[in-house]
Formats: sequence, structure tokens, C-alpha cells
Amino acid sequence: MTPREVSALRRRLLAWYDREHRRLPWRGARNPYRIWVSEVMLQQTRVETAIAYYRRFLERFPTVARLAAAQPEEVLKAWEGLGYYARARNLHRAARALVERHGGRLPPEPEAFRTLPGVGDYTAAAVYSIAFGRPLAAVDGNVRRVLARLLALGLAVDSAAGGRRIRETAERLLDRDRPGDFNQALMELGALVCTPRRPACPGCPLRALCRAGRSGTAAHYPRKAPARPVPTVPVAVGVIFKDGRVLVTRRPEAGLLGGLWEFPGGKIEPGEAPLEACRRELAEETGLAVEGLEPLGIVRHAYSHLRVVIHAFRCRFAAGRVRLRSAAAHRWVSPARLGELALPQATRRLLPLLGAKGKTGAR
Ligand code: SF4
Repeated sequence: MTPREVSALRRRLLAWYDREHRRLPWRGARNPYRIWVSEVMLQQTRVETAIAYYRRFLERFPTVARLAAAQPEEVLKAWEGLGYYARARNLHRAARALVERHGGRLPPEPEAFRTLPGVGDYTAAAVYSIAFGRPLAAVDGNVRRVLARLLALGLAVDSAAGGRRIRETAERLLDRDRPGDFNQALMELGALVCTPRRPACPGCPLRALCRAGRSGTAAHYPRKAPARPVPTVPVAVGVIFKDGRVLVTRRPEAGLLGGLWEFPGGKIEPGEAPLEACRRELAEETGLAVEGLEPLGIVRHAYSHLRVVIHAFRCRFAAGRVRLRSAAAHRWVSPARLGELALPQATRRLLPLLGAKGKTGAR
């Protein structure tokens, strides 16, 4: 793109953004903490879903200091349903680090912010360009798609060379006078016009400058490396009743769904029947002997990198003391109060099954 074309692109994109951008609760805010929270939420979540969570989260934790002072469990509970819980744990840890090291404020330099848990190049660039006007290009999935189409990029955007090309282009195009608006404008164009499946090229403000748009080949971009198949993992879990309460265990902080509560269980080994797997896992995971194992239901859930099929059973406590193998903590909870805990989505989906069968299960 020539310097003249770059100027035209900035002008057209910003004029379109000024006219067409959605009025979202975090737009127009200059409060860096609020912008940061919105950027973290939006990384894996649709705007429509994030709005209600964003409002509730900020009502509960209106400042870095309030977030830092919260218990991890409270933060996870406020995040429940948004998924990708590492985002919430890291946000919380980062808030604590900000209170310890920077008096509860974001540091003046993005490099210092970048060292906090969960803060990557994208988050640092988005927050510092929007809140502080720093000339940093923020490259997310929307931006990658728009730029790949503008260039008609033959390289896969998820390859090292493709990623470099996208980043260089984003930095070259960035409007130095309005970097925050420019970043948001590219993302907004990707969300509203240059969408993944149906790019609206005829009405796009960048069409005259866009190689894919002009040649009618937008659907061919962005190119991606072939996806790896997503494995399916069969899992057996047991809802153990004892005196009208059920056992839940808390996952270790580190790792997938860290800090959330779930029913004990684990992977079904090849060739193993779900019921046998459940009996074995309960003994190994909790140290308890159980009786009366019977099927409760099956729940399927997809994560970004794997799918799980959960075979749930209910049973009665028979003997033993809880001795956890890999969980961090345990509780005996009345089924009616399970909903108050921070639970993974898949576990939450088991609750109606439990409610329907709770009476007979609580023998
Ligand atoms: Fe995307 Fe089409 Fe606009 Fe190009 S012209 S940026 S492909 S919507």
C-alpha cells in the first residue's frame, strides 16, 4: 500500500467508525481498569454475552483495589458462565500485583503492565492505546481477518510468517493521532462489516483499498493452517450422597477450570465401562467406598481444544474418610445450595438431573 493509500484508509475507516460504531458500555470510557476488564472479557466471548457480565463484574468490583481484595472464589463466581476461567484468575492476580507494586493503578509504561499475569501483547496494546493514546497496534481475530483480506494474504494467518506480516501491516496502518479509535475501528469493521462468513464488501468503507474486496475473493481469506482434530474424552463422575448432602471437590488453581467445584471422577480408560470407571475413580480420587451406583445422565461439553462426554452416576456413601488425590479441597453440600458455588458449565448442566432425582438419591 502506498503512503497515500494508507492515509486514505485511516481517514475512511475513522470516519466510518465515528458514524457507525455501536454504543457499548465500555466505549468512551477512559478508565483503564474498565477498559482492561472489557478487553479480557471480549477475548473469548461475544459482545452480546459480555455486556451483562461486564456490568455485574464492575458493580461488584468497581476498582482494582476492590478486585484485589476479593476472594478467588468470589471472582470465579462473578465469571461463572463466561468460560476460560484462567482469564478471571489472572485478572485477579494481576489486580493484586497492581496493588502491591503500583498502588492499585495501571503503571505508566505498557511494558510494566505486560509483565502481569494474563496480559499479552493484545491486551496491553488495546488498553494503552484506548486509555492512554499510546501508538500500539492491537491485533485480535477480527483485525487479523480484515488485514488478511485487505492484503489478500496468501500466507496462513496462524503461521509465524503470516502472523509477522499481519503485525507489520497493523503497525504501518495504525493512526498515530487516534490509535485507540483506530484499533477499535478495525475490530468494529471486522465485527459488523468484514464478518467471517458474509463480508458486506459492497457497503464497506475500505473496498476501494481492499484486494480481496475488489476481486470478490473475500471468502478465500484469511487462510489458515489445517486444524488439528479435537479429541473427545469420556469421563465418569459420581454424585455421592451422605446425610442429604453431596460431595464436591475443588480443582487445583493451576490448569483447566482451576479453582472451580465439581463432582469427583475422572477419565474412562480404554475398554472400561463408565460405571466401572466411576467406581474406580471415586475410590482413587476420594478414598471413599460407595454403594448403589446408578446412572444419573450424560452431558456433553465442548472446550476449545477438547470435547468431554460426562457419564454421571449417583450413589451413597458407604465407608471411609475423604482423602483427596488430586483435588485441592472438598465440601459436603446440600444439592439445593450447589448453585451457589463456582461450577464449570458442564457440572452446572448436571444439576437439573440431580434435582429431578435428588429425592430418591438422598436416601
Ligand atoms: Fe472486508 Fe470486503 Fe471490506 Fe475488504 S472490502 S475489508 S473483504 S468487507
